[in-house]
Amino acid sequence: MVAFFVISMPARAEWVGDARPLMGTEVSVLLWHEDETVGKEIVDEVFAEASRIDRLMSTYKEDSRISEINRQAATEPVVAGDELFRLLQRSHDISVLTRGAFDITYDSVGQHYDFRNRQRPDDATVAAERELIDFRFVELDQASGTVAFREQGVRINLGGIAKGYVVERGVNVLRKHGVQNGIVTAGGDSRLLGDRRGQPWMVGIRDPRNEAEVAISVPLEDEAISTSGDYERYFVEGDTRYHHIIQPSTGEPAGGVHSATVFGPDAVITDALSTSVFVLGVDQGLRLIATLPDYESIVIDAQGRIFYSDGLQSPE
Ligand code: ADP
Ligand code: MG
Repeated sequence: MVAFFVISMPARAEWVGDARPLMGTEVSVLLWHEDETVGKEIVDEVFAEASRIDRLMSTYKEDSRISEINRQAATEPVVAGDELFRLLQRSHDISVLTRGAFDITYDSVGQHYDFRNRQRPDDATVAAERELIDFRFVELDQASGTVAFREQGVRINLGGIAKGYVVERGVNVLRKHGVQNGIVTAGGDSRLLGDRRGQPWMVGIRDPRNEAEVAISVPLEDEAISTSGDYERYFVEGDTRYHHIIQPSTGEPAGGVHSATVFGPDAVITDALSTSVFVLGVDQGLRLIATLPDYESIVIDAQGRIFYSDGLQSPE
């Protein structure tokens, strides 16, 4: 018989982290923990939470609650469940705040895009489907916790807010375990917990037309930051770049800016607002941010010029 002796090593404090493909993007976690083994368990718990949310909210999964709502809600009210219901309410509030620039019903048009296969809706399809983009078609009944659509053909998609929700929930997992320094990222959305042990986190906003270049680095602590760009999911046809952020009023990809970054206390809000500022453009977008004392924004327009919200000082 062979005996194995496990020599217990003194716990080593260090950064632990991992990155995995999830929600059509990459989700990553980095945290500081006194004990590497425990740290890794916490990292795994964040990924488990992200997968759970994805199963609930992905329109790419036939058996998700969102898919069931999209199939049924025009026929009869569908029970959303508390968590999804609350996120739908928050989406609705942001639609009101942004006067419809943020609108989860964009998907009546959005569903016809397949960026990997360079597919897009033809003009007739856009003209017909854009009539169904209007958050007011989505009826949320607080008492019964149900969702109903006022028109056949309405579809919802939380792609502009769910990643912010994932990182916010991920950071809650870290907090629950007493972690004080960490970062959770899903695609263009990050939530920072504390600082990088003595120094701020440096978050880079990439050059929209050069993947390898960082346009601006922002020092941040204990904050959320989201960037929406026209370089995430897109294809080019002739002179036109077809990308994934839809202008609800036209049903076409929003023009005018290359990227919109928003930071502030809550990743759900920064995620939805970065999409909103992208749709609104430099002037209207920054005017909206000026009304929100806790949130700031950096916008890169189609000429590559950089614009800052009032609360920020542009670097000289
Ligand atoms: P990402 O992190 O994927 O770049 P964004 O926060 O920029 O995400 O949001 C883009 C996603 O939001 C799109 O892929 C789509 O799912 C969804 N979306 C597109 N247009 C709108 C819109 N006008 N309002 C709300 N969501 C939208
Ligand atoms: Mg967003």
